[in-house]
Formats: sequence, C-alpha cells, structure tokens
Amino acid sequence: MEKVVIIGSGPAGYTAAIYCARANLAPIVITGILPGGQLTQTSDIENFPGFDDAVNGFELMIKLQTQAEKFGTKIIYDSVKSLKTIDGGPNTIELDSGDSIESKTVVIATGATPRWLGLKSEQRLLTKGVSACATCDGAFFRDVPVVVIGGGDTAVEEAIFLTKFATKVTIIHRRDKLRASRIMADRAKSNPKVEILWDHTVEEINGKDEVDSVTVKNVKTEKISTIPCKAYFAALGHIPNTKFLNGINIDDQGFIQLIGNSSYTNIESVFAAGDCADHTYKQAITAAGMGCKAAMDLERWLESNQ
Ligand code: NDP
Repeated sequence: MEKVVIIGSGPAGYTAAIYCARANLAPIVITGILPGGQLTQTSDIENFPGFDDAVNGFELMIKLQTQAEKFGTKIIYDSVKSLKTIDGGPNTIELDSGDSIESKTVVIATGATPRWLGLKSEQRLLTKGVSACATCDGAFFRDVPVVVIGGGDTAVEEAIFLTKFATKVTIIHRRDKLRASRIMADRAKSNPKVEILWDHTVEEINGKDEVDSVTVKNVKTEKISTIPCKAYFAALGHIPNTKFLNGINIDDQGFIQLIGNSSYTNIESVFAAGDCADHTYKQAITAAGMGCKAAMDLERWLESNQ
C-alpha cells in the first residue's frame, strides 16, 4: 500500500509532493489530463514571489515537477476515475487506464476548469474561433477583431495579451464595473486596442464553420446588437474539478469543504488543497501554500495513525 497519493499536478499538488517527498513519504502524483494544471496555459506570471522579472507558467510548472521528482516523487500520467475513501484509510484510487492504487492517505488537488456561458454555439464553434484560453489560441487570430467575455483578471489579462495579434479586442462584461484588480483594469482601459462593452451579455455566437460575430444584449435597455469578430474567448472563471468525488463534503458551488483552517476533509486520511477547495483566493501562490499545509497535516496525521 502507498503512503500518499496526490491527485493533481498544479502548484498545490506539486508543493504537497515536494513536502511529502522531503519527509520520506514517497508520494505519487497523478497528473490528470493537463499535467502542470492551469498555469501551463498562461503566459507570464508577475505575482509569484521570487521572480522579479515574471516567470512563464509552463516553465514554473516544469520547475515544480523537477523539484518534486528530485526528492523522490513518482509521477503517473493518468486521470482518476473514482476515489473510494474510508475514514482513516486505506483509500482506493481508480485510474482511467484501469489501474488501481491503494493508499493510506490522499491529497485532492484537482484544481478547476473554465466556465462557459452554456450556449450551444460555444460547443458548435469550439476550436473554430471559440476558446477558453487566449494564451493557447490567441496567435491564430491576427489582424482580425476578437471578443473576450467576462470582467475578472483573466478577461483583462487575456484581452491585453490578444492585442498583440488582433486589430481590436472588445471585453464584453455583464456589469458596469470590472471585477479585475485595479492595476489590471487600468492597463486594459489605457490600451488603445481594448474596448469595454459594459452591461452586455452574449446571446449567441454566429457563424457557420467559424465565428463571424456575436449577438449581444444590453441588460439595461434590452437592445440587441451584433459585434463582428473572428474569435470568442470565454474568461468566466472556473468550476472546481470535484465531480468525481464521492463521500467528500463539497459545497453548493462544488468546492471541497475543509475543516476549520486546516486541509482536513470530512474523511480522515483525505486532505485537499488548491483551487478545488478555495472559494476566495485562487492564486498560484495560495494554492502552493495550501499544498504545503496539506502535506504537513498529512504527515502529522500519519505519525499518529501508523
Ligand atoms: P473571476 O471569477 O474573478 O471572474 C469571472 C468573471 O466572469 C466575472 O467578471 C463574472 O462577472 C463573469 N461571469 C461569470 N459567469 C458569467 C456569466 N454566466 N455571464 C456573464 N459573465 C459571467 O475569474 P478569473 O478567472 O478572472 O479570476 C480567477 C482568480 O484568478 C481571481 O482571484 C483573479 O484575481 C486571479 N487571477 C489573477 C491574475 C493575475 O494576477 N495576473 C490573472 C488571472 C486571474 P461578475 O464580475 O459580474 O461576477
């Protein structure tokens, strides 16, 4: 039986792995379908401490993985199909490949995935101009107008990034105030290629084989209009990856409920860290901090439950 299995390979998962590996617990990390997690899809990260000149998201995750492996972490490139937990362990982790692992303890660090508006046209035109990752797909849309949906830091960051390629970037936001931090919002507002369309929702994405325009509605006047564009980037926040869980307490938005200020879940021997258990902060550095807490809680729990 394994001592520690960590589900997820973002900053939370790898930080938990580094701490567990240095404590001689020989952790296993199950990467999930996106090894390295969400940060591998961002460009420069300017707010991760220790990198005064920004760090590329993909490079940061490679560094974290290398650091975890250096101390003895085993990486398995697979996804978890189900997790069968028992109070106090052992827990059974079933993988998509059909393999199964038994582990005394588990850290759930599965992160979150992008939210969509839920329009049929989002699915129909996915990869044909519809995307949830400007960093991945932005360069395909040179010298054309594009739109970004949302008003948070991601929307603003992606809009600024897209100005490298697009002729014009319209941020479509449902309110008259951005949720994004002041510094990011100011950068977008002062960029001549960025326009913010306040108080509007997207009703439809138009186009037969590729995006041609979006139909938008002014939520105050109900007036409908059309914005020509060749790409639609959803930046609507994220949904925690917790659907596969059974028996672990999650809240009405899908976030894992932690006990007090700890990383304990309601099942003894199962811990959680990062965006899958974080309503509020959802930062790379807070996820890493939570991974550290999970490893320390787990180590102490193992010491008293051998
Ligand atoms: P957020 O949850 O912060 O923002 C989501 C945005 O989408 C909100 O503006 C929200 O509108 C809008 N939205 C959600 N659902 C709908 C809907 N159905 N219809 C229309 N609009 C909708 O997510 P982000 O991904 O932007 O950011 C997540 C976290 O990551 C934040 O803590 C952020 O600060 C951080 N971050 C930091 C960065 C940096 O520092 N460089 C870069 C990117 C993210 P409303 O505002 O009305 O709720």
